[in-house]
Amino acid sequence: MTTGYVVDLDNGHDSYCVESLVGVTYCGETFDPTAVDRELYAIDRGEDHPHNYFCFDCSKADSRKVRSLARGETDA
Ligand SMILES: [Zn+2]
Repeated sequence: MTTGYVVDLDNGHDSYCVESLVGVTYCGETFDPTAVDRELYAIDRGEDHPHNYFCFDCSKADSRKVRSLARGETDA
């Protein structure tokens, strides 16, 4: 499950998390979607783009799915 958004939570992970459901990350963290800056996953990003770095568990999320949802393909 993913929404196509990623979040940089202030939890010391120092990396982005994949949003699984609104307010819940793939790695099981919950957050307040109105207080946290949800960013649409960047598709055409450079090598140093921060979205290249996910937390350990979130790096196992299906990035192909995240990408197609970020493109607006809802049937991913
Ligand atoms: Zn995570």
